[in-house]
This record gives sequence, structure tokens and C-alpha cells, in this order.
Amino acid sequence: MSIRKKGKHYYSSSQAEIMEVLTDYSQSVKYIAEHFKNAKCECGTSQFKLLLDDTAGAATRICTKCGNEHAIGDSSNYVDEAELEECECPCGSEIFEITVGVSLYHDTEDVKWIYIGCRCPQCDLTACYGDWKNEYEDYKKLLKLV
Ligand SMILES: [Zn+2]
Ligand SMILES: [Zn+2]
Repeated sequence: MSIRKKGKHYYSSSQAEIMEVLTDYSQSVKYIAEHFKNAKCECGTSQFKLLLDDTAGAATRICTKCGNEHAIGDSSNYVDEAELEECECPCGSEIFEITVGVSLYHDTEDVKWIYIGCRCPQCDLTACYGDWKNEYEDYKKLLKLV
């Protein structure tokens, strides 16, 4: 593990470590993130622009290579009412690797909370860019839609 902490920011050297940053962050929310999925475009690319609205509970990602826009998880249900804002790293870059984490209700496969984690390939800053209550019934299906 090579996560570094500078001030209040985490920096990591690979996408795999977004998971660890989300786990750490989720402890402050009290719903521990237990299952994770890395976002990958159908074209094979794993770098995206990210738009999200954590009040409406919606996020979409836009592939930096093919331009395909995809609603993350069940966001397509909420995106019409959302005011999506483009995420930007403190370094100014708007391109991220994205990993989604979910917390489940105890002893069920039902989702309770969702976390959108991002790593900036430019400066390595890794953080949770949004988290909200999610009531999807089958986390495996939800993570397939990441
Ligand atoms: Zn693509
Ligand atoms: Zn950055």
C-alpha cells in the first residue's frame, strides 16, 4: 500500500487504492463500504470526466476516449431531476479513474449507501467525490451498472 496523506488529502499510486481511501472515508459516515467496482467504459478506457449531484443522488461519467456518457449505478432514475456539476481535482484536472463502493444493510444484499471514489492520474489525489443513500436491492446488479 502506498497511500500518502498530505494535509487533508490522500494521494495514491494506483486505482486499486481508491478502495482503501473509500473504506477510510466511509468510517466517518458510519456505513462501511464493503464492495467495490472499478468503472470501465465499453471501449476499455478507465479515465473519465465525472458529473454528479449528491443531493439528487446521481452521477454520470463521460469516457475520455470515445465520449460515451454513462449513468453510474441507478443514476439514470434520478438524472432528470439532478443538477449535475462537473467534478474537478484541486490540481485543475477534470479526468479521473473512478471506483464505486457500497455499504449494505446488515446480513442482506440490499444497498444502504453508495460512495463515488476518484483518483486523479495527473497528481494522484484520491478522494470520495460524492456519497448518498441508495436503496438498490441487489448490490451485485448495482455494481454492474458502475
Ligand atoms: Zn469509451
Ligand atoms: Zn489532480
